[in-house]
Amino acid sequence: MDLSLSEREAALVGLCRHFAQTQIATRAPGAWEEEHCPTDLLREMGNLGLLGVLVPEKWGGIGMSTVGFVAAMEQIGLADQSVAAAWQAHVTIGSLPLLLFGDDAQRERWLRPLAEGRALGAFGLTEPDAGSDVRSIRTRARRRDGGWTIDGGKAFISNAGTEMSFGVTLLARVDDGAGGDAGFASFVVEKDTPGFTMGPKLRGIGWRGLDTRQLYFDGVWVPDDHLVGDPHMGLSQFLRTLEVGRISVAALSLSLTQAVLDLALDYAKDRVQFGQSLASFQSVQFKLADIATELEAARWLTYRAAYLRDAGENFQKEAAMAKLKASRVATWAASEAVQVHGGLGTLLETPVARFYCDAKVLEIGEGTNEIQHLVIARALGC
Ligand SMILES: Cc1cc2nc3c(=O)[nH]c(=O)nc-3n(C[C@H](O)[C@H](O)[C@H](O)COP(=O)(O)OP(=O)(O)OC[C@H]3O[C@@H](n4cnc5c(N)ncnc54)[C@H](O)[C@@H]3O)c2cc1C
Repeated sequence: MDLSLSEREAALVGLCRHFAQTQIATRAPGAWEEEHCPTDLLREMGNLGLLGVLVPEKWGGIGMSTVGFVAAMEQIGLADQSVAAAWQAHVTIGSLPLLLFGDDAQRERWLRPLAEGRALGAFGLTEPDAGSDVRSIRTRARRRDGGWTIDGGKAFISNAGTEMSFGVTLLARVDDGAGGDAGFASFVVEKDTPGFTMGPKLRGIGWRGLDTRQLYFDGVWVPDDHLVGDPHMGLSQFLRTLEVGRISVAALSLSLTQAVLDLALDYAKDRVQFGQSLASFQSVQFKLADIATELEAARWLTYRAAYLRDAGENFQKEAAMAKLKASRVATWAASEAVQVHGGLGTLLETPVARFYCDAKVLEIGEGTNEIQHLVIARALGC
């Protein structure tokens, strides 16, 4: 496995580092405090081609490798986790169902604006009674008037409620016409479709700049050309999309761990107690050394999953392992980094406290870590 970056990948990393340091790091903390999604920053990322990072040029993207995306995410997430979370949700689960399973007309109509940074994509899977247990979704699609009527609701949907959002690609249970089930199918529902409404932005402990909401569908009618992919394979299409999402949450976790390591190291060198810097105490040194070591292990798993995807290999187990390991390392490292900061690290105006709050979601979104265990155990033959 050769993980040296190509010239193109390295150029993307340089671009993201510059944008993250000059724009995101300075402007995003305000959005976190005010709990609104900084779409101005996302639009600027769109102008740089970043919203179409995994989409081929033919459909308006920049056709970057998954390894390049992971490396770019390490830079964006270092500056702010909410912007990085919105970006990764758009790039993977928000866009990939259309790229991987849509037809050319759907790609032209919905994927191109997403890839060109003119709109933000959302993925509607979770429901109030169906989180990990995705087969329990109740949102139902029935054939009517040459199209489909959709009734139900979705929970915790990211990127659907901003002024940049185009709507949502959702998963519904398909009615067989006799009140029974004919499997699951995926549909695009554009914003402003009659019967499609949403709740207010949810208030989380972290990712406060990410727009996440409940969505409601009350007799929403969409024509046949809004059905994405195979009308019976919607669930497997969504699960395949989530595999890429797991690599990206792993990458987001790496960026958070690097951020808290940098913060803890700088603070430990500066802060003096008992007449010496914290960094001179062996117990602090060991914390920092442990974080650096675990980060490197998580990094290798994440790049390995990305490399396998780029090579066209099966990466399901590796993506689950990467997400499991990297998110665990991130939550633990954030806690250790707060510990190094002492009381200061508990104040919300410090970056380390914000990263601490942001970390927990990494173990929950795109399949909880318990679900990653199940995926890995199944791959082992359990
Ligand atoms: C900030 C945020 C953004 C999100 N964005 C999106 C989005 O854009 N689109 C979307 O569709 N969803 C989104 N989600 C939803 C997310 O994917 C779910 O929260 C997640 O899949 C878990 O579902 P749940 O919350 O219903 O928890 P539950 O499934 O109720 O799980 C609760 C606990 O039980 C455990 N558990 C459940 N089943 C098992 C089992 N079989 N074995 C062992 N343990 C089990 C879980 O691991 C967890 O610890 C988002 C969530 C958050 C917090």
